[in-house]
Amino acid sequence: MARKLTQRRLSSGQLVWVAMSEVADGDIAVGNPEQSVATKNMAHSLSSSDAHLALPPGEHWTFLQQVHGDQVVHVDRPGGQNGLTADGAVTDCPGAVLAIAVADCLPIALISEGGGVAALHAGWRGTKDGIIEATVNQLRKVSPGEIAAVMGPSIGPCCYAFGLADRQSFVDQFGSSVVATTTDGNPALNLRAAAICSLNSLGINEIVVDDVCTSCDDRHWSYRASKAPQRQALVVWQESTPSL
Ligand SMILES: [Zn+2]
Repeated sequence: MARKLTQRRLSSGQLVWVAMSEVADGDIAVGNPEQSVATKNMAHSLSSSDAHLALPPGEHWTFLQQVHGDQVVHVDRPGGQNGLTADGAVTDCPGAVLAIAVADCLPIALISEGGGVAALHAGWRGTKDGIIEATVNQLRKVSPGEIAAVMGPSIGPCCYAFGLADRQSFVDQFGSSVVATTTDGNPALNLRAAAICSLNSLGINEIVVDDVCTSCDDRHWSYRASKAPQRQALVVWQESTPSL
């Protein structure tokens, strides 16, 4: 069932939530006709675990047509810009839910103390091409203030076999912390380490990392493990009314 990754109260009194759906909630992939059922299931499982955790209804969600690029959209109202082609979204609008659908790629939420949130899709290509930097820069324009990051579950180094030549380009860009070995002894990429390096270089040091591996853990779909077309989603939103 969906689980809360983080809750954070801003100095304004506003609460921000970050949560993650799981297989039990249903397929949340963009274009899946059952997507709205999965969003309702997710809202239901969160509210049953914590009565205060009220996830806004599906029409207040913004999903992106994710293409492993570096485009970022500014969501100006709940549900705004839904379906646009981009890999990052930012908003300073309370009640707007930003959703990133994944099945191994790394979903990241950003929370600005100034009262804005962002969500982004960081696969290996987007991470190399600067989606993290592009989203952080856009969030800083919308909402100046300290930023904290929350990384959702993704494929772990335990399962992320990666060619040596391709991995070397990550070492050149992000340093040796990206070097890993799979549980069966093959060269692997630590994508989370690359993202942490990228965030640190942007002055973001408060980072919550969920270390669940989507490939090892049955609660999640994994494209690598089973070529699954289904997706889980990370969602971030600011509540619409401060609950002090
Ligand atoms: Zn694994």
